[in-house]
Amino acid sequence: MKRTLISTLLAATALGGVMFATPAYASKQKPVIGFSIDDLRVERWARDRDYFVEAAGKLGAEVNVQSADANEQRQVSQIENLIAKKVDAIVIVPFNSKVLTNTVKEARKAGIKVISYDRLILNADVDAYISFDNERVGSLQAEGVVKKVPKGNYYLLGGSPTDNNAKLLRAGQMKVLKPYVDKGDIKILGDQWVKDWNPEEALKIMENVLTKNANKIDAVVASNDGTAGGAIQALAAQKLAGKVAISGQDADLAAVKRVIEGTQTLTVYKPLKLIATEAAKMTVQLVKGEKPKFTHKLDNGFKKVDSLLLTPTIITKENVDLLVKDNFYTKEQLGL
Ligand code: BGC
Repeated sequence: MKRTLISTLLAATALGGVMFATPAYASKQKPVIGFSIDDLRVERWARDRDYFVEAAGKLGAEVNVQSADANEQRQVSQIENLIAKKVDAIVIVPFNSKVLTNTVKEARKAGIKVISYDRLILNADVDAYISFDNERVGSLQAEGVVKKVPKGNYYLLGGSPTDNNAKLLRAGQMKVLKPYVDKGDIKILGDQWVKDWNPEEALKIMENVLTKNANKIDAVVASNDGTAGGAIQALAAQKLAGKVAISGQDADLAAVKRVIEGTQTLTVYKPLKLIATEAAKMTVQLVKGEKPKFTHKLDNGFKKVDSLLLTPTIITKENVDLLVKDNFYTKEQLGL
């Protein structure tokens, strides 16, 4: 009797252990994926969502999409909710790269795979990371602007201070700019991070910079199209749009139109269908216990994270048709 009780207890413990590590959805053929997105109000993330849901669907997975609307606490609650729902995996575009350590720990403890999407979650035990080479994006931004303005007064408009990508972009930009600064050809008048990547913030910053420097600015290295749009509004108010070189990234529709009309020097195209499709594939493979393909191991402060980094492409007036060839836009959308 005693022995039976012990063995029963042992079996229960073993079973408990297994259950603990097993996600709720018994059938790995039909995984449920939570997709926690920082801010769906931003054009690119809505496309990421659509491509991801489509790709996941083709792989037999169902997706529960959440948008935190640039609110740190809301994102944490939404992820906790997904954990409570016992999804099989959570794919996260973090609003704040530094505050998800415990939330990720909880998810992992519940046997849920965690994938960091586009932005790296720092100091956390994530299963994988997928993005574009963000330092390269930064270098392309600076290269494009330097090509147009090899000498002059520069201003650096960074991304959100809570986004790890903002720092990688800046690092890539500085790699290109530093030799010109050292030579004395380029003078950096100043730099600022744009809170929440908010275009209106960028507009205000640019207005102040123009006033402070009596409009004597030749180039702006802006870190994405949204903030470039804000800065260009400030430039336009001083009749400087098209005269001051300025970068961006994302190939947002409005930005590509500005590139065509000449008020924005370049954007950086990141094929969102590719990242979303690869992310869906990676997530389903992780849930099924298969090994996805990775290109890098990146240190996030907690460990070296298995990462897949994709390649960005610079878009200027000269090669804008590439966006049509890649089915990112139709000719009609771009007025070509
Ligand atoms: C992304 C950019 C995006 C920005 C603002 C960055 O982390 O890499 O593509 O424009 O966030 O949402």
